[in-house]
Amino acid sequence: MSCTFVGEDTVICGGGKWEVLVDKVDGEPRWCFNCRKVRDFRFIVSGDSEPSYYEPNPSIRCAVCKTDDGDCFPGRFRVWGEQ
Ligand SMILES: [Zn+2]
Repeated sequence: MSCTFVGEDTVICGGGKWEVLVDKVDGEPRWCFNCRKVRDFRFIVSGDSEPSYYEPNPSIRCAVCKTDDGDCFPGRFRVWGEQ
C-alpha cells in the first residue's frame, strides 16, 4: 500500500494496481443492444491486487464493444448483490 500526502492534513492511501481478477465467458452468446448483433459476453471482475478498502467490481461486458450491460434492454442495468 502506498500513501500520498495532499496538502497539510489529507492522506490518500491506495493498494496495488487495479487489475482484472476474473475474465471468463458468461453463458451463451446473446444480443448486444449496443452492437445490434449476437455477441459473446464476458464476466469480468476487477479489483485491487492488494488488500483494499474497495471491493472487487463485477461486470458483464460485450466481448466486442466492451459495453457493460450491453445485453440489458436499453435503459436497464444490473444491480449486483440484490436479487
Ligand atoms: Zn457489443
